[in-house]
Amino acid sequence: KELTLEAIKEIIKEKHVELLHMQFVDIEGTLKHVTITAEQIDAAAEGKIMFDGSSITGFSPINKSDLYLLPDLNTFCVLPWSVEEGYSEARFLCGVKNPDGSDFEGDPRHVLKRTVNKAKEQGYGISVGPELEFFLFETDEKGRPTLNTQDVGGYFEPSPHDYGEKVRLAIYRTLKEMGFTIEASHHEVAEGQHEINFKYADALGAADNATTYKWVVKTVARQFGLHASFMPKPIAGANGSGMHTNISLFDLEKQENAFYDPSDSRELSEKAYQFIGGLIDNIEKFVAVINPLVNSYKRLVPGYEAPCYVAWSASNRSALIRIPATRGAGTRVEIRCPDPSANPYLAFAIIASAGLDGVNRKLEAPAEVVDDIFSMSPAELKERGISNLPTSLEAAVDALEEGKIGRETLGDHVFGEFVDLKRAEYDSFRTAVHGWEIDNYHAKF
Ligand code: GLU
Ligand code: MG
Ligand code: MG
Repeated sequence: KELTLEAIKEIIKEKHVELLHMQFVDIEGTLKHVTITAEQIDAAAEGKIMFDGSSITGFSPINKSDLYLLPDLNTFCVLPWSVEEGYSEARFLCGVKNPDGSDFEGDPRHVLKRTVNKAKEQGYGISVGPELEFFLFETDEKGRPTLNTQDVGGYFEPSPHDYGEKVRLAIYRTLKEMGFTIEASHHEVAEGQHEINFKYADALGAADNATTYKWVVKTVARQFGLHASFMPKPIAGANGSGMHTNISLFDLEKQENAFYDPSDSRELSEKAYQFIGGLIDNIEKFVAVINPLVNSYKRLVPGYEAPCYVAWSASNRSALIRIPATRGAGTRVEIRCPDPSANPYLAFAIIASAGLDGVNRKLEAPAEVVDDIFSMSPAELKERGISNLPTSLEAAVDALEEGKIGRETLGDHVFGEFVDLKRAEYDSFRTAVHGWEIDNYHAKF
């Protein structure tokens, strides 16, 4: 259902909304907002709220810095933690516009919308269900994050080991009040690691949800004096945090899931195999977008349920792409390498566009790998044609720059800014002297 401006004004009155946060994300997916008073609602709805684009990572140069926000009315919601007697705050997620009213090319939300529209022209809707894992860390007396996890629980462990249960309950309730449908939540494998799953949505809705989820998780964790971290690998030797992304195409003409075919041995359609083929064919060239940090590549190592080899399988958790057992309307592929530090808008856009590339080129999926890939020798991997994912941000950015899929999907502006940003990030890492080097070399040489 669409929220009208009239309906929103009713809620503003009824809930005593005093402040409105006009939100958008920068190129890294970091949430930004400017706060206006609720009396400004008409001006805001007409797209008249201006900001300085030159102060936002990856946006505009200083000489063309004026940009405008146009709220997506459907994203309006009252912030549960702001509510007091006779007072509350609400937010909108916004599109970013140029002064002439056209879409701003650097807006990640616009990048995803463009991909969605392209898919629509080809007859497909895109459904996405992301699973974002996170850690809860204690904070010190000044409120700064420490590396002490907040509990010592493990996978699916209930209380009393899982002190996080109380925090997850508070997060779940907050998200529910904001309109999320929460399906499950659990303690993850590592100490202090958690996951809360919300219902899949269309690609844009899913990216909006992932962005809102990260904000809510951090906000609620703070209320418990904890720091929620979506860093991909905060602790060496323990599982990292992934953002497994479940995705499927919906055939708009037949009004059915385009990946389901009951007559196939795995009940997957030809389109599903082509989509898998597209993901596998392109993965190296877009992994920088879904694993965007230096730290992302410390998660993609053998032994921690995160993939590091390019293969697919119906049920194997060591593979890059897994096909969850659900069939019928819920038939989907799960790509397992993305991590929650990725910008969800850019991530879902590039995953969808890589898969669709396979459909358009009618690619075949390579043979399924049923065996545990982590236990294969290098010779066996080579024999089966299983390649490695890029092992560093530098290698991933090189591949992104060489490939076509990145520039085509992100557009010249975002592509250029992203590559520059990531090159600078890698360079800063490369020239820093790390603790490991001091530990291993300082005394010895
Ligand atoms: N934490 C694992 C990862 O890094 C995934 C665990 C799971 O299968 O949920 O992707
Ligand atoms: Mg998980
Ligand atoms: Mg999963």
